[in-house]
Amino acid sequence: MKVKLLGAARTVTGSCFIIEAAGRRFAIDCGMHQGNAEIEKRNWDVDIYDPRGIEFLLLTHAHMDHSGLIPRLVQKGFRGKVYMTPPTRDLLRIMLLDSAHIQEMEAQWRSRKHLRRGDEEIVPLYTGQDAIAAFPLFSTVNYGEAFSPAPGLTVVLRDAGHILGAAMVEMTVTENGTRSRVVFSGDIGRPAQLLIRDPSVIKEADFLFMESTYGDRDHRNETDSLNELAEAIAWSHAREEKVIIPAFAVGRTQEMIYSLHLLAKDGRLPADMPVFVDSPLAIQATEIFRKSREYMDAETNMLLANGEDPLKLPQLRFALSTQESMDINGLRGPAVVISASGMADAGRIKHHLRHNLWREGASVVFVGFQAQGTTGRKLVDGAEKVRIFNEEIAVRAKIFTINGFSAHAGQSQLIEWLGHFQTKQEMRLFLIHGEYTAQQALSGVIRDRFGIEAAIPDYLEEVTLAPGREPARVAYPEKTAPRIDWGFLIADMETRIAQLREYREAMESKAWMEQAELRDRLLEINRSLAGIISEIH
Ligand SMILES: [Zn+2]
Ligand SMILES: [Zn+2]
Repeated sequence: MKVKLLGAARTVTGSCFIIEAAGRRFAIDCGMHQGNAEIEKRNWDVDIYDPRGIEFLLLTHAHMDHSGLIPRLVQKGFRGKVYMTPPTRDLLRIMLLDSAHIQEMEAQWRSRKHLRRGDEEIVPLYTGQDAIAAFPLFSTVNYGEAFSPAPGLTVVLRDAGHILGAAMVEMTVTENGTRSRVVFSGDIGRPAQLLIRDPSVIKEADFLFMESTYGDRDHRNETDSLNELAEAIAWSHAREEKVIIPAFAVGRTQEMIYSLHLLAKDGRLPADMPVFVDSPLAIQATEIFRKSREYMDAETNMLLANGEDPLKLPQLRFALSTQESMDINGLRGPAVVISASGMADAGRIKHHLRHNLWREGASVVFVGFQAQGTTGRKLVDGAEKVRIFNEEIAVRAKIFTINGFSAHAGQSQLIEWLGHFQTKQEMRLFLIHGEYTAQQALSGVIRDRFGIEAAIPDYLEEVTLAPGREPARVAYPEKTAPRIDWGFLIADMETRIAQLREYREAMESKAWMEQAELRDRLLEINRSLAGIISEIH
């Protein structure tokens, strides 16, 4: 059996594991690579996935970093079934359409710029039609129901307690007469999360691929997190400004509504502070949550049975159209605005940040993981300025990072989940879906606690799994870590500056208007250089 890592290897996004087992070739997840431009290039290079050669997909959950490339695979010839739980299917439909819409809009926006410059038109990564073409491939399986997508392979999906419908994949592979149990954890939820159930406990595996997003830290507890949220609200309410909450439309947004519902019950959400959910996707997802009662935890079901709807608030308003969204920016006075994307690098949230980041008294509350390279990460890391829609915006708003609302298990919760495996000593463990520093920290704790070594495979690495043997590893160092020749690049730039200095006289002899134009162009370059330098620093 072989597993090739096409994403979520020493990074968080782009989950995709191509498996060759029992004479089949299939994949677990096919997520979008998110972060900076360099990482996002990977989304275009799906030929390395060999989409036609993937027989079927097992999908852990509807988050884009696990499912976002499915339409792209279909566009490139994938025709197999995609197995998932029923709530994942409901969420996935709306999420893929939303993702396609974002792709189309961004391509259109960038095209306009390109065409103006005389360059070629930009095509979107995929379109709404590609997304719709994927729908007939969806095949649902309930938690705990064993199924066999191919001979020699039995699969059971377990509740991962991460978002509605999220699953862990438990697989039994029979190859040459030997059986091996392979578990992919998917994203492991934080126990005691509002609305959904706690992550399932699995006790046996020969090979375990485990997520490690928060491998290096624990979350603060729920009470502290609610208090922090109340603090942000009080801060901006007193200053008559807005509280902006970038949140994933699915899961995080609903948990935030529930949290605000709890604060309102406590008298800690002022009645004159409207709460806007500004994301058509979040509105649709909230409806799916409402009709998925059977997947909710006991606490939520008890509330519902008592006639209390945790997804309701008297001052809750939904902004569906673009006009309604824009109206929020025109509105003066305090308000809470929940909008997507959660990492602040796409969607309507960018407009809200552009209108509010520079306002003293406003606050921005981050409630989810912020990947490297995203605007969210820059703000969390204390950037004084960020670029939004190619405009530099000063950061004067107060930035809150409340990780207690995370949908992911923290370090000790990951260790606790791993601790349930009774096969730890013989099991081969691989850490996936985490940044390398977090993974190293987690593997250290695992070594101390259980005395076992965890492997941390890299992007495009292929691991061979054979029971009872050390996994053989094939690495592609030149692909995984292309070296950037900074020395050459900087020397090249220095040569240009030296040339400029040489041409100074020539510049001075030009007509005044020409000089002014040259000056403006150079100033622009200088400004963006200063921006780059301040980001590195
Ligand atoms: Zn997820
Ligand atoms: Zn994930």
